[in-house]
Amino acid sequence: MGLPLTITFLGTGTSQGVPMATCHCDVCTSKDPRDNRTRSSIYVSTPECAWVVDTGPEFRMQCLREKIDRIDAVAYTHSHTDHIMGFDDLRPYCANGRDLPIYASPETMADLRRVFSFAFSALSLAPGYVRPEPHVIDGPFELAGTTLTPLPLKHGRAGVNGYLFEQDGRKLAAYLSDCKVVPQPVIDRIHGVEALIIDALRYSDHPTHLSVDEALEVAARVQPAATWFTHICHQLGHASAEAKLPAGIRIAYDGLKLEFR
Ligand SMILES: [Zn+2]
Ligand SMILES: [Zn+2]
Ligand SMILES: [Zn+2]
Repeated sequence: MGLPLTITFLGTGTSQGVPMATCHCDVCTSKDPRDNRTRSSIYVSTPECAWVVDTGPEFRMQCLREKIDRIDAVAYTHSHTDHIMGFDDLRPYCANGRDLPIYASPETMADLRRVFSFAFSALSLAPGYVRPEPHVIDGPFELAGTTLTPLPLKHGRAGVNGYLFEQDGRKLAAYLSDCKVVPQPVIDRIHGVEALIIDALRYSDHPTHLSVDEALEVAARVQPAATWFTHICHQLGHASAEAKLPAGIRIAYDGLKLEFR
């Protein structure tokens, strides 16, 4: 028997967020709260365990907004600034000298160690610091009954880990936040997943992100029960862009929860 699992979208925006500073376009001035997008991240919780995927620049505000009291682990997709710069705001989740497991690819872990060397340094364990417990991953790992499988994606020159969340072989959700290419072995691995959460930056082509049309092509190959677009830029107004999508394909927004029972 699986555990009930909830995914909360902490952020669904591209690297500059929406609205974007200095822009006065229709989407950046929209009154629809769904057009207010902080940097992309999700919070995943079961009764046994809770973890975040990425800690972007608004991580602290996202935790306050969603009243997050518990984080047992962090999994990183990659080390671009829009995904790691909230790292130091993990401090409250390391209270009472608790070490926090951090899961990342070798490249991403090396970047985290470099950028946040004060936290990784054994000399810096003053009370109140982040206490990372590094886990370099190159294959599936388990968090209290949920299996996380890293999914290697191409994102320009960067390598990114998407993640598949499974319980007892049931493919609950695949999170592919930043990618331009989804390799066939990943498509095969996540085929038929209940929820595909995927990068769909904008309508026009981009060198390192999937466009809406490209994301639709990936979804057609994956055949998920539901698809949610994320890492959205200000070209996509929530209501108007979602109205143009086929049935079963939606645009995520900050604060959205997906429940798996
Ligand atoms: Zn990003
Ligand atoms: Zn704009
Ligand atoms: Zn990126």
